This record gives sequence, C-alpha cells and structure tokens, in this order.
Amino acid sequence: MPTFRTLWPTPTSLFPDRQLMFRRRIAVIGAGAAGLVAARELRREGHGVVVFERGDSVGGTWVYTPAVESDPLSIDSNRKVVHSSLYDSLRTNLPRECMGFSDYPFVAVTGNSDNDHRRFPGHPEVLRYLEDFSRDADVNGMVRFRTEVVSVEMEGEGRWAVRSRKIDDGLTGDESEVYDGIVVCNGHHTEPRVAEIPGIEIWPGKQIHSHNYRIPQHFLGQVVVVIGGSASAVDISRDIAGFAKEVHVASRSHCVENPMKQPGYDNLWLHSMIESTNSDGTVVFQDGSSAHVDVIMHCTGYKYHFPFLKTDGIIDVDDNRVSSLYKHVFPPLFAPYISFIGIPWKVVPFPLCELQSKWVAGVLSGRIALPTPEEMMEDVKAFYLEMEQAARPRRYTHNIADYQFEYDDWLASQCGCPPVEEWRKKMYEATAKNRVARPESYRDQWDDDDLVTAAHQDFMKSLFSS
Ligand code: FAD
Repeated sequence: MPTFRTLWPTPTSLFPDRQLMFRRRIAVIGAGAAGLVAARELRREGHGVVVFERGDSVGGTWVYTPAVESDPLSIDSNRKVVHSSLYDSLRTNLPRECMGFSDYPFVAVTGNSDNDHRRFPGHPEVLRYLEDFSRDADVNGMVRFRTEVVSVEMEGEGRWAVRSRKIDDGLTGDESEVYDGIVVCNGHHTEPRVAEIPGIEIWPGKQIHSHNYRIPQHFLGQVVVVIGGSASAVDISRDIAGFAKEVHVASRSHCVENPMKQPGYDNLWLHSMIESTNSDGTVVFQDGSSAHVDVIMHCTGYKYHFPFLKTDGIIDVDDNRVSSLYKHVFPPLFAPYISFIGIPWKVVPFPLCELQSKWVAGVLSGRIALPTPEEMMEDVKAFYLEMEQAARPRRYTHNIADYQFEYDDWLASQCGCPPVEEWRKKMYEATAKNRVARPESYRDQWDDDDLVTAAHQDFMKSLFSS
C-alpha cells in the first residue's frame, strides 16, 4: 500500500457511509464530462476540489463554437487553440440511454419544446445534459472558469505545484498553488493528427483537419478528398456531399479494388488510401483512380497532449501511447497523486469516466488499495508485451474497444459498485451492428426497443431508490 501524506485527517463520523482515511486537496484540470464527474466523485469521497477550466462554461467538447483555428491543419504551435471539434450538424453516434452517467440518466426532458427528444440527439442536447448534471451535482461552484493550467510540477511526494493564469484578465498574473493530487481531465480531441501523404509538399490544393470543420457550405462546387474511416469521416463526407461537386473518401481500413459509389449519393465515392498527390492538383488513389482535387480533409483523429505537465519525461506521449499508465489511469511512479480520466477510446465515455473517477477518489482517500509501484509497472509492461506479440500498433494502446466492458466491470469491482448494466452492454453492441447495417439511418431506425424499455425501467428504479 502506498504511503499517504495526511493533510486533513477527517473524522469518519462526518462520512458515516465511508471509511474515509484521508481528505486531500485535489486540482482537477478541465470541466468537460470527465472533469465534472471526477469533481463530483472526489467531493463525495470527502476531498477538497478545485476544477480549473480555461473556457467560460462547463461541457468541454460539447461547447460548440463556429470559431476555427487560424491554421486549418492546426500544426502551427503559436495558433490560438479552439477546444471543441464539433461540427454544426453533429448528432451523437451512441443512443442517449447508453451515453449517460449511471445515476443521472440522459433522458429526453418532456414539456420543453426547445429540447431535442431524439434518441441520437444533436450536440446542444448533450451540452444541456452536462450543464444540468453540473448544476444538480453542485459542481459549478468548484470550477474556476477562464483559468488555464500552464504547469504542473511535482515538488515532493504528493505535493504538486500548479501554475495557472486567468485568460483575458489584464489585472492578474500567474498564480501558483500547491495541491496534494492532480486529476487530469483535459480531453483528447483537440490536438489533430495529420495523415502523411506522398507528394503533399508540391500539391497546390487546400488542406484542413476535421477539428476545423463546422459547416458544409464552404465546399460548394468543390472536389474534396476526406481521409479516414471513423464516425467523423462518415458524417462529414455525407454532410459535404450535399454541397460539393465530388467527395472521395480515402480510408486505410477499406481495401477496395475500384472506387465504390456510395448508395444514396451521385457524388460520393469510397477509395483505398492515397497513392500520391501531384503538382498539377491531382490525387491518385491506390485503387488506380485519380481526381483533380481542391481540398483534402483529414479526419484522422487526435493526439494526447499535456503541454502543462513537467515530469522530466516520466509521463510521456509516444506514438499516442501515454506511458506508462496502470489501467490507463495511474502512472505507477506518481500514483496515486496524479491520475488521468477519460484516456481510453472507442468506448462509451461518460460511464467509463464515472467509474475511473470513483476509483481515483477511493484510492486517494485510502479506501481502495493500489498494488505497489513495482507491481503496477509489471502490469503495464506485460500489457505492452502482449500488444507487441499481437503486432498491435503502439498508437492503439488506449483503444479498448475489444474489452471496454470488462475494463468497466473491473473498475466497478475495485470500487465495490455493481457491474455495467446488461442493457447498456447489449445496446452498445446493437447500435454498432445497426450502424453497419444502416449507415445512413441508424440514428432514426433501430430494432432494440426492448433495451430502451429495460433502460427506462432501470432509470425509474434508481429514481425511487435515491
Ligand atoms: P473534453 O470534453 O474535451 O473536456 C476537456 C476540458 O478541459 C475542456 O473544457 C477544456 O477547455 C479543458 N482544458 C484543457 N486544457 C486545459 C488547461 N490547460 N487548463 C484548464 N482547462 C483545460 N462521446 C459520446 O459519448 N457520444 C458521442 O456521440 C460522441 N461524439 C463525439 C464526436 C466528436 C466529433 C468528438 C470530438 C467527440 C465525441 N465524443 C462522443 C467523445 C467526447 O469527447 C466525450 O463524450 C467527452 O465529451 C470527453 O470529455 P472530456 O472531459 O474527457 O474532454
């Protein structure tokens, strides 16, 4: 068991339902879904919490803005960063019942015509949900808005110096404080990954990353190549096809021998990857076809990025692996004093962040034990070795699609919580299948109404038991 520094020993009588051992002062970085639920769980456990948020509201990614960055590829390190990558037309790719926190269902609020009652709602409805959660969980008062964390540095075991600065406030300079623990919730959909394309230095067209895509009207009459096979590539290519002359999707996950026209569109084709780009403006695909192209849109995902962490390389990002993290949360050498919430991808993020937060909060108070740093490091090494033996690229370290619910259930067992609801697991699988079967209409047509009923029965039970 790690040694804990007692800051404020707290009488357990104040927390009759918890065997609280230590009450700590914790800095949470970010007030998106992860930071909000982390703040709630840390406070429930009795810790003192300050949430740093550089934006002026809660919700993180879900705070849509029409603003984009000055560099459309977001490579320029001096650019003013825009946090959210949402596009105007975005609807969730998971059903709302599945998405919500375990004890705060994401249900359509009846009686308010402004709300979006759809099962796969548009992005404003998700923001509304997170704002409601933050208000009802009484988290708003813990958040310091327009306050960016610029550096986090360890001063001694369990002592972290946090330097922050107020944004657009000419009056105050940087502020330095010391915290017992840091919970990093800064999101991972802001720092773009850009595809390497042969010949791109001489290709005369425009390039943009989906991080800076908002509306399709800008592509009127143009020929656009969309690179990627993710949900964003699928959505954006269809969004643009309504305005562009031609849209060509190039995806390394599709090995097509010939360009495949997409059903329902006259101007949308699926290709294999790009073979070359040339000075005459042409883009040649590996399937042998080519097009004269105006814009290449990179829907190629994002990188983990922690510019504020000063750990002498002990916590590092290498080919999108955050190394080393025990169970994607604790760096063994610094555990439990720094932790990361929301790192795994290809998951249902809100409930996963909730379970990670409960684990972190319980470990910080000493209610839940961690293995020794050596044991955690062994576990991480074994995991990396397993990946290597399976020839799984390093950048997939935190892609836990194949075992997300086992992971969630393991976290739940650590925290003494029930496993993830059966209906949620089945609904996730049913949605994945429906998305493949009905790529155009899965958000409006489905066959899992029985699971929706099961979810609502569960929500009612938790309403009456709380
Ligand atoms: P974020 O929401 O990114 O929040 C991070 C917060 O940290 C931000 O508010 C930011 O301002 C703040 N911050 C960052 N750095 C600092 C700093 N140095 N100092 C202070 N504050 C800082 N999930 C779903 O469940 N369903 C979906 O349908 C879905 N669709 C998506 C579509 C797109 C295009 C994208 C990009 C993501 C989608 N997601 C979806 C995933 C989504 O990212 C998660 O749902 C969730 O919002 C992640 O929350 P987070 O708190 O980890 O990060």
